[in-house]
Amino acid sequence: MELIDKIRNVQDFPKPGIGFKDITTLLRDGAAFRQAVVQMAQLYQDQQLDGIVGIESRGFIFAAALAYALGVGMIPVRKPGKLPFTTLSATFALEYGTDAVEIHVDALKEDDRILIVDDLLATGGTVAATAHLVEQLGGRVVGCCFLIELDFLHARDHLAGYRIDSLIHFDA
Ligand code: AMP
Repeated sequence: MELIDKIRNVQDFPKPGIGFKDITTLLRDGAAFRQAVVQMAQLYQDQQLDGIVGIESRGFIFAAALAYALGVGMIPVRKPGKLPFTTLSATFALEYGTDAVEIHVDALKEDDRILIVDDLLATGGTVAATAHLVEQLGGRVVGCCFLIELDFLHARDHLAGYRIDSLIHFDA
């Protein structure tokens, strides 16, 4: 089965010019969802992970399943104001304006080996900010794993030094 065939492209969502990669069609297919999680697990099963960071909100779906599969704890990184305890925040640039992500200050320990998971790598701003949070807390980013990567946005150019894995690639 080709996982790419399970992704639905929704043109002009949420605004004109954007080709939105809809993962709900993959999630709805039990074999495809499982295959995606198994492939992610195979990539990182020998990495002695101490925690898996999931980025709100679609990242939670894959991070939680992968954490369960590998028997590792899951750490949520969320949009501002959502986490109840004391947080650390990182701001990043969007096409227009800025956005931010937050993590609980006690979410990980010094030298913890952390995998960051999200559904899709576009410009890389979100994952770069998330990696910064992990490192500020003393964690080590062992890798960043995505279901989908939009190769034409060249996020890897801004993520030098990090291991990046994506199961599905779109080059246009
Ligand atoms: P970025 O910070 O540019 O790498 O954006 C990554 C985040 O935006 C991910 O959490 C994605 O869920 C979302 N995203 C960006 N572009 C798309 C797209 N074309 N289709 C679906 N989700 C997207």
